[in-house]
This record gives sequence, structure tokens and C-alpha cells, in this order.
Amino acid sequence: MKVGIKTYSDEKGYNHIPKIIDYADFIEILPLPDNDFYKQFADFDMEIRIHAPHQGQGADPADRNAVKRTMQCMKTAIGAADLFDSPTIVVHPGTYTGVGSTMRAIEFLKQFNDGRFLIENLPAECNEKGELGSTAEDMAPFVKTLGCGICLDFGHATLTEHAKAKGYKQIINEFMRLNPKYFHIMGGSIKENIDHKNLFYGDFDIGFFKECIPRDAYVVLETPHDAGMQKREIEFIKKGKYSKTAVFGFRKCRGIFE
Ligand SMILES: [Zn+2]
Repeated sequence: MKVGIKTYSDEKGYNHIPKIIDYADFIEILPLPDNDFYKQFADFDMEIRIHAPHQGQGADPADRNAVKRTMQCMKTAIGAADLFDSPTIVVHPGTYTGVGSTMRAIEFLKQFNDGRFLIENLPAECNEKGELGSTAEDMAPFVKTLGCGICLDFGHATLTEHAKAKGYKQIINEFMRLNPKYFHIMGGSIKENIDHKNLFYGDFDIGFFKECIPRDAYVVLETPHDAGMQKREIEFIKKGKYSKTAVFGFRKCRGIFE
């Protein structure tokens, strides 16, 4: 299993890398489409995986009105994957923009014919429009038509519980049938409806997440840039151990560390 950390391709992310380079196996960067700063990550002697720009940068494969921007974002991602020799590109499927959204998104992504794409599940209620690919059922047509894999984001799948008449463990188990080998993991709270917290924060059952991950997987921490905490998070994912000397941000998960 390889455990890495996610970062934006900005100066803040760049400055964080030296602090975790001895602990993380790889980094996942999100190249920003409006500058070339991501190329500077070549300074690090480290495996780099790519996450395509997404809604935050104005990309949305399902939105007719965003075609130009989405194209620019996808080209940036593909160029970055070529540059860093990344065998995977994580792609958000997009948001619901009316009837036919899923097919529009699939048709848009199909034109790249890129076997490196891993479609990431999004939370069902991320914003007012609603997200595509929030359940295994919604994800299936992407996988089938594009012939690609998925990136299973545990936090997004967990928060999807709020919008579906299903528990998050069932939502995750259904995704596991799509055979993911690449994961995003983080802590968070169902009660507070938040994710992207440190792994030991809140009420997500991270012991359950850990059990889902196959041995040959790539696991990306989408947690705050706190090097000391990320070191412990990596240790936990790899060995199931948690350093008792640093039990901050740690609330309801005690059972699984014992
Ligand atoms: Zn994610």
C-alpha cells in the first residue's frame, strides 16, 4: 500500500512537501489551469499523481456553459500527468445541470480517450445543484462507458448518507464492488456535515475505512497540512497504530486504537 498526501499546486503546497517527504510515499497535486507553478513540483524526488482541476476552478464536464473552461482544465491535467508520468488522473464527474447531465459528462470525458482517468465519487449534497457520481449506481455508467476506474473518496461517500435512505457503510460497500484501487481519506463529522478534517477528528469510522482498503492500493490523505499529524495519519493507515503521545483532535474513535 502506498500512502500519499494531496495538495494544491501553489506555494503553500510546495512549501509543505519538504516537511512530509520522509513519510509520504507520493503526493497528489491539483495543477491549476491559470499558471505553470505545478511544474515546480518536479524539484521533489517523489512520485507525483494528478488530480484534475474541478468545480473550484470552474470545470464541470456536465455543464454546457462550462465547456471551454473544462477543456482548458482537462488539458492542464493531462499535460501534468504526461510531465510527471502519472498513471492516474482523478476527475470529478461534475454537477447536476438538468436532465441528461450524466450522459453529457460521459460524452465530454470520452473525447479524451484517456485510460488514466479515475472518476471520483462526490457528496450527494455538496452544493445546491447536486453532484454526479455520489453512489455506485450513479457511478456505474461512467466506469462502463469510459472503461476507467474510480477514486473512492470515503468522506464524500460518508456525507452522502444525508441525502440517501442508506447508511454510509452500505454506500461504501456498494462502491467497493467497482473494485477501487485509489482512495481519498480524511476525518470528519456526519453530525456536523463536514469532511477534510484530520483523520482522527469527529465520528467517521476510520477503522472501517481502513478495512476496506486493499493491500495494493494508493491512498491519498485529504487532511489539513499539519506535518506532525499527517505523519501519524500515515502510520495509522499503514500499521493501524496510533501514537498515544499525540491524542489531539481525537474524540469518539478510541475503540479502534486499542
Ligand atoms: Zn477527494
